[in-house]
Amino acid sequence: MRIYRTFLALVAACFYYSGFVPLARWTRRRGRQGQHVVILNYHRAAIGDLSAHLHYLRHHYRVLSLDHALEDLYAPPSRDGANSAPAAPPSQGRDRRTPLVITFDDGYYDNYAHAARLAAELRVPITLFLVPGYMESHQRFWWYEAEAMVRDAREKEVTVEKHTYSLAQPADQIALQQWIDARVRTASAVSARESFIASTRAALDAPSDPTSDDPDTLPFGWDEAYELLANPFVTFGAHTMHHPILACLSDPAEVRDEVVACRVALEQGLGRQINAFAYPVGKGEDIDERAVRAVGEAGYRWAVTTIPGYNTPATEPHLLRRISTDPDEPIPVLAAQAVGIWHVFALSRLRNLTGMSRRATTSGMARPGESDATDRLDADRVPGDKGRPL
Ligand SMILES: [Zn+2]
Repeated sequence: MRIYRTFLALVAACFYYSGFVPLARWTRRRGRQGQHVVILNYHRAAIGDLSAHLHYLRHHYRVLSLDHALEDLYAPPSRDGANSAPAAPPSQGRDRRTPLVITFDDGYYDNYAHAARLAAELRVPITLFLVPGYMESHQRFWWYEAEAMVRDAREKEVTVEKHTYSLAQPADQIALQQWIDARVRTASAVSARESFIASTRAALDAPSDPTSDDPDTLPFGWDEAYELLANPFVTFGAHTMHHPILACLSDPAEVRDEVVACRVALEQGLGRQINAFAYPVGKGEDIDERAVRAVGEAGYRWAVTTIPGYNTPATEPHLLRRISTDPDEPIPVLAAQAVGIWHVFALSRLRNLTGMSRRATTSGMARPGESDATDRLDADRVPGDKGRPL
C-alpha cells in the first residue's frame, strides 16, 4: 500500500512539477468547455494538512460559496453570449481564475473545530452538509459501527447466519466486520439498520457508548451548529435525516421523508434557508430516480453527487459533480484532482485493478455487492474509490 501511494504521489509530482497542471488549468479555462465550476468534496478535516490545501486552492482558484458559484454558472447568458452574472466588484478586479467550491459531508466534529476555524482565518467559504438525526443522537456514524463492534466485542465467538466467527482470529475479525458493514450499508430501511446494529451489538456484547471513539469522528451537535451561524464563511446544506443510501431504501415514502425532513429540521433549527442537498455516498449506483425526484420536489435548488467531474451550465442542477479528496492528499495530488486530470487519467481505475484501496485497508471495510434496489443512475459509474468516507 505504501508503495502504491508513493507511486501515485510520484505521478502527481510529475504532473505538478512538469508544468502540466498549470497548463491543464489554463487550457480548461480557455478551452471549449467554457464556463465551469469545480466542486471539491471533503469529509474529515483534521487529518493531513487542510491549511495547506486551503492555501493552495485560494491561490489558484476563485473559491466561492456554493450558492454564489452556481448562481453565476446558471445565470442566463446575455445577448453577446457572455454570462450575465453580476461582475466582480471593482476592488477585486477581473478575476479569471476557475470558480471552485469547497464542501464537507456528514458534519464531523472536526469540521466544526478545525475546518470552520480555518475557513474564517483564511477567508475561504465552505459548505457543510449535515445529518440532523446524528446531530441529535451524537451516536457514531453507521460506517464506523462494524469496526467499533468487532473491536469492542466482549464475546470470544459469535455465530451469525450459520457461520461461526472466532474473535481471537484476525481473519475472522475482518470477515465479521465486512459482513456487518455490508448489512448496515445496504439496509432497506433506517429502522432495519438500527435494529440490526442493536441486535449485533447485543450478540457481540459490545458497548454502544461512543465516548471511547476519537471525538473528531463523531458528529457535531446543534450547539456547535448555532455557534457556526456567526461564521460568515460557513454555509449549510442537507445530507438526509439519517444518512441511508437512498437507492437501497425499499419504500419510496421513506426516500421522500429523508430528503424533506432534513431540510425542515435544519431550516427550523438554524433559521437559515437550506438550498443544497448532498446524496449520501453519492456515486451513480447510490442514487436512483426516486431520490432525484424527491430532491426536486422538496425545493432544493442544487444537489451534489460524488460522481467525479466539473460542472457546466448544461449540468443537471440536481446531479452536480464533485471531486473527492482528503486533507491528507499531498498538494500535487490535490492539484491534479482539482484540475480534473486525476480522473481523466483514470487512476482510480488503476487503483481498482490493482485491488488496492487505502480506505479499505485503514478501515477494514470494503463495499459490498450491489443491493436489490432498481432504477439506479448509471451515468459515469467509476470503479474504485471503495471504502471511502461517506
Ligand atoms: Zn455522507
